[in-house]
Amino acid sequence: MRLSRMNRSISGKVVLITGAGSGMGRAVAHLFADEGAHVAVTDLLEDRVNDVVAEIVNVGKSAHGWVMDVTDAKAINYVVNAVGKKYAGLDMVINNAGINMLVPLNSPGYEKYWEKAVDVLLTAYMRVIRAALPYLQKSKCPRIVNISSTEGLGATKYNSAYSVAKHGVIGLTRALAVELGAENITVNCIAPGAINTPMTSQISESDKKVFAKRRIVLGRYGEPEDIAHAVLNFCLPSAQYITGTVLPVDGGWMIKNA
Ligand code: NAD
Repeated sequence: MRLSRMNRSISGKVVLITGAGSGMGRAVAHLFADEGAHVAVTDLLEDRVNDVVAEIVNVGKSAHGWVMDVTDAKAINYVVNAVGKKYAGLDMVINNAGINMLVPLNSPGYEKYWEKAVDVLLTAYMRVIRAALPYLQKSKCPRIVNISSTEGLGATKYNSAYSVAKHGVIGLTRALAVELGAENITVNCIAPGAINTPMTSQISESDKKVFAKRRIVLGRYGEPEDIAHAVLNFCLPSAQYITGTVLPVDGGWMIKNA
């Protein structure tokens, strides 16, 4: 008798990705489509949605786009239900949309940044999951993956609003893993380190090199595809016994002392 019985294919599964118009979200959309999933590409910016959908559809894979501002609760409910209706179900949610901000605690507009960070990076994640829940409860392979950050494990100076939200994403992941486990819905979290995306493009290549050499075990920034594969691993049918975990995908940044 063969021992290996679990399945590593997401072919035919329906996945909704937030912030899929750029960086890691776009890489996740491409990879999941390449693996045969139906990809709901959602983002704040219509041009980005259209571009990513075209990139996927033009190579014969399955994607459809929706503009969705994750700070708009009504839009979330509308889009999640539209996706569920179009594909007669929804199996996986990838909470990824994000913004970055460096703002000192004593700067005049601090509270506005705080509110924005919590809104986009944390409250939105909860809302997307709540809207998707009725579909996930009917899925045979229900998966939630939340993108946190190494800022959810430690902190960088002047990044408190962002860091608090990213710590919150880890708390949300653990709490919902506990709550939804009885329904076999797995909830996991990825903590990306320094990744080459538009979010980090304002940092010069020479600064990136110096930082990576000093702080990152593997000596380089990561690529969006590095994150996409980690997301995929959590979404495989065979990942059914992994829940509530936080996986740093940071080239060893967090474990390096000196
Ligand atoms: P990115 O800027 O390339 O992509 C972010 C996407 O989110 C953009 O397409 C943007 O339009 C979208 N977005 C922003 N606000 C939105 C909103 N209100 N509604 C819907 N979409 C919105 O950034 P990225 O680096 O790919 O970031 C993806 C995630 O990874 C974010 O949650 C970010 O915080 C996190 N992260 C990034 C890094 C890094 O080094 N790049 C490190 C750790 C964590």
